[in-house]
Amino acid sequence: MKKIALSLSVLATVLVSAQSIKTNIDLVNVKDDKVAVTMEFPKMKSGDIKFHFPKTVPGTYSVDDYGRFIEGIKFLDNKGKELTFTKVNDNTYSLKNAQNLTKVTYLVNDSFDDEMDTSKHKAVFSPSGTDIEQGKVYMINTHGFIGYIDNMQDVPYQLVVQKPTDFYGTTALVDQDKSESTDTYVLANYAKVTDSPLMYTKPDYITFNAGGMDLVLGVYSPTGKYKAADFKENLEKMVVAQKKFLGDMNTNKKYAILLYLSGTDGPQIKGFGALEHHESTSVVLPEMMPKDAIDKAITDVVSHEFFHTVNPLKTHSEEIHNFDYADPKMSQHLWMYEGGTEYFANLFQIQEGLIDKNEFLKRINEKITNSKNYDDTMPFTVMSKNVLLDQYKDQYRNVYEKGTLLAMCLDIELRKLSNGEMGYRDMIRKLSQRFGENKPFKDDKLIDELVTVTGYPQIKDFYNKYIAGNQPTPYAEYLSQVGVEIGKQETPPIFWLIKDPNQTGYNEKNNTFVFDESSALSPFSKSVGFKITDEVLALDGKTIDIKNVQAFINYSKTIKEGQNVTLTVLRKNGDKMDKIDLKGKAILDKLTMETLQYKANPTPAEKKLQDQWLTGKK
Ligand SMILES: [Zn+2]
Repeated sequence: MKKIALSLSVLATVLVSAQSIKTNIDLVNVKDDKVAVTMEFPKMKSGDIKFHFPKTVPGTYSVDDYGRFIEGIKFLDNKGKELTFTKVNDNTYSLKNAQNLTKVTYLVNDSFDDEMDTSKHKAVFSPSGTDIEQGKVYMINTHGFIGYIDNMQDVPYQLVVQKPTDFYGTTALVDQDKSESTDTYVLANYAKVTDSPLMYTKPDYITFNAGGMDLVLGVYSPTGKYKAADFKENLEKMVVAQKKFLGDMNTNKKYAILLYLSGTDGPQIKGFGALEHHESTSVVLPEMMPKDAIDKAITDVVSHEFFHTVNPLKTHSEEIHNFDYADPKMSQHLWMYEGGTEYFANLFQIQEGLIDKNEFLKRINEKITNSKNYDDTMPFTVMSKNVLLDQYKDQYRNVYEKGTLLAMCLDIELRKLSNGEMGYRDMIRKLSQRFGENKPFKDDKLIDELVTVTGYPQIKDFYNKYIAGNQPTPYAEYLSQVGVEIGKQETPPIFWLIKDPNQTGYNEKNNTFVFDESSALSPFSKSVGFKITDEVLALDGKTIDIKNVQAFINYSKTIKEGQNVTLTVLRKNGDKMDKIDLKGKAILDKLTMETLQYKANPTPAEKKLQDQWLTGKK
């Protein structure tokens, strides 16, 4: 039996290699921070060829134009002769009469080095970006290194990485060769390629089994401050809790975590967070974070990415199933893909005992506060469908705030309707049984499907009002049903420009603080004639260093009542910005903040629903 299996697999490998796109990434001969890539194709089906790099990739919801990072591209025929081509845009090359195309070669620049220069293009979110640092680290988000030909996206790829012999590649992929100087991977199609990031570094990784799943955690810590083993205990606890929460909704047998810690000497990056894949996640965090904070980030962020294995990775609409890398179509349902996922990432922590019930409410309250920075009357489905367009993209981050709250309110709604028998998790489980990896749902039929799987037509009203409609969700009303009320809390007096410091934003272009135009001015701002559209450049000559924003905040905290203060602002004057000093005596102001608290005397019905909500038990 063994022998037969072996010869079959050898045969399969031969078959694959004959018809696959052989892609070579050379991490040994790196020059000027650029990596050479060669792709060799099987016979072309036609002479009209379009070769692309992705405009965007699943899970990022932004236009990133990965073709921007490619240079020196050459298309060669079977005799090694260069073929002429037209560059259609940043991402696409067009060739005519090129049926003999056999090879393309090019150099890849990394996106990390480009992040701070947003004059020409918005930065790529670091966890979906690329980093090339010779002798140190190669962050290979494959979509930044490997392209595809139209109509050949379903051809398997054979990926060969030539690597320094003392480097290790953290990935969910399985190396098919025994060589120390190459790793060979076979990938079923281009979607699988973009689903499979790799991080090559000097070896620092751990493997272990938790919750019935094999994990690998690879860490790049530039100063060596951290080792992968430092994070094992917390990660293991989190994974066990998460697998228990998901039950049969998740079938992963393995999962790889690529943790890139960004140091002060390396590329200046700012996109901290993570990106989801079926069997892995790439995570980027600052190395300066204390261990406890990294553990907490792993619990919050890695769990969020792992919950994405439920949706959109497994259960999703046609837009995601047939993802068009060159001209992506967005789904209406970021409330579920991102909001529902973020809700799970918090709910499992309370249900599995990783956080206590007060911490859970604190998190929900933060999301309510943060959601006020966004347009609460913009239908979530509309924002979601159009998220790649300029006028909608600034609303994207609300998926983690209001999106979570929508899932929470729907959870409470379902529990109320079902007398506690069914919640959001049960609904998603049923949806994932009805649809799945190879069976997408129709985007505009999702709510009908949710009515079908739950048996509660009432949730369509919820959807039409709060998700697809423009009505703000009455959080207080929903929370009251689970025995939670809104309280008020006063802070000690502080010095700031607006009443609610949470409405402060940062303008990267001018290196200034900016404020939500609906924010109320603080008494000091009023006294010096500050306008809500002014941008704060400096306080008493101290400018903002966004990498060390705490220093600025700490300084503002030292300001005493009546002290002389000079505020330097940029004020709009026609097309230009005038730099103006506003001087006055500091006025400190108390803040009234809304908090959430459990009712001292909930009704029996509220108490029952609260227990079911917080424990997941029926
Ligand atoms: Zn997400």
